[in-house]
Amino acid sequence: MKKLLGVVIVIIMAVLGFAACGIDPSENGGMGNNSSSGGVTNYPPATAINNTLIAYFSCTNTTGTIAQHIATTTKGRLYEIVPETPYTAEDLRYYTGGRADQEQADPTARPQINGGVDGMEKYDVIFLGYPIWHGQAPRIISTFLESYDFLGKTIVPFCTSHSSGIGSSDTNLHSLAPSAEWVSGRRFSSGTSQQTVADWIDSLDLNKSADVSDFDLKSGKNGSAPTVMLNSGYEMPIVGLGTYSLQGDTCRQSVLSALSQGYRLIDTAHMYGNEREIGEAIRQSGVPREEIFVITKIYPGEQFANPEKAIQESLDKLDIGYIDMMLLHHPGANDVKAYLAIEKFVAQGKIRSIGLSNWYIEEIDDFISKVNITPALIQNEIHPYYQEQTVVPYMHSLGIVMQAWYPLGGRGHTSALLSDNTITQIAKSHNKSAAQVILRWHLQRGVVVIPGSSNPAHILENISIFDFELSDSEMDAIAALERNEKHDWY
Ligand code: NAP
Repeated sequence: MKKLLGVVIVIIMAVLGFAACGIDPSENGGMGNNSSSGGVTNYPPATAINNTLIAYFSCTNTTGTIAQHIATTTKGRLYEIVPETPYTAEDLRYYTGGRADQEQADPTARPQINGGVDGMEKYDVIFLGYPIWHGQAPRIISTFLESYDFLGKTIVPFCTSHSSGIGSSDTNLHSLAPSAEWVSGRRFSSGTSQQTVADWIDSLDLNKSADVSDFDLKSGKNGSAPTVMLNSGYEMPIVGLGTYSLQGDTCRQSVLSALSQGYRLIDTAHMYGNEREIGEAIRQSGVPREEIFVITKIYPGEQFANPEKAIQESLDKLDIGYIDMMLLHHPGANDVKAYLAIEKFVAQGKIRSIGLSNWYIEEIDDFISKVNITPALIQNEIHPYYQEQTVVPYMHSLGIVMQAWYPLGGRGHTSALLSDNTITQIAKSHNKSAAQVILRWHLQRGVVVIPGSSNPAHILENISIFDFELSDSEMDAIAALERNEKHDWY
């Protein structure tokens, strides 16, 4: 009886035009394991793409391996489509009238999926992978497509098979997610290299991460810094005022001086104990709130343990309606919990962007895999004696803006840098100060700056860096000053 059913199904498939294509043997026989270990292996990645999901169905991990290559290239998140009832080797056998044969012959078959994508709304680009079964995508892909709203999303199908191409298997899926923008799919054979996959992705010209290191410096004027577009969709000035150690009236006056001289970015932190003064100065300045970008930070320990309370405290002390960006001041116990709490405030519109401080390559990939919103910015110690020559391009490749704290070497540590012979010589040739040359060097290498000052003349000087340019050889000469000399412990 079972044999007879098989014969009938083969005839039906022949009529439907499926008989020439078989279930790809490379995907046949046993379920694949969960391949979420894709992670990040290549450095630097070729084509980081904003908010990418790689959803794939794989029985022998052939499709899973391609999915991992895509994840490595795009820095996207892997999601394996796992059937509620796993396919056995018997289920998958060719032309036996087994389960897969039956499903492929029945366009209404919808095998159930175990689990689902957490937070589908945050993905813009979805790579959708499957093995070719009888010339078509397995019906579980139809189940997947009918489970979500793909409005505004781009779907890029890919398949694996030894012989058949992607054929109509991708276009036949379009009607299941008509609101998505579909990109022509591609077939891969097993053993396809990472480079081949990366080249394909590059050729698609998808929504690549904006280059967060190439500022339009020519649009800047002294007293009016250009902005960088954050991955959160907000623009942030590339020069701001740092307020570490500025207290009370000194702090208020420094902020007022900066705002009146054209600054539109102020950096503070719970730990600096001056959020209240900064809020007062902003309200007093007469500059419209929406023109000003304020960064603050919460600290490990008590604040990370009770993040909602800490975040609300910053909102209350600043009292400027919303916070443009909140950072975790350092890695530490409960940092993921604290970040997820900030995400909730983002959802409520009380915070606009999220970032990190004192985060390095060792921690970032693991951290990003545990949160929903990719950090928009990382604020680290960076200056000519401590340049982070590896960290900076790595974070940029993730679409994360790098911001230098201690851009001039740090309060109490500036004298050696500001009198460095290489820097003072360059400064002299441009008729600029050593501080201006250092700040311009940061910007030309794609790092944004928040020099701290309570001196109105210095504040003005530090935003008057848009009327000269360092040559390549001057940039190289400053790069050669690297000493890997950290001026603070974190
Ligand atoms: P900095 O900006 O490297 O240096 C500030 C020092 O440089 C001050 O002593 C300042 O003195 C002096 N200065 C500023 N402009 C000058 C100029 N044009 N000519 C000569 N001297 C000048 O160090 P920072 O303020 O300590 O760091 C910058 C900001 O980064 C901080 O304010 C804070 O917002 C942030 N930060 C963050 C972290 C973190 O962990 N995330 C850590 C440290 C700092 P005057 O006041 O006399 O101008």
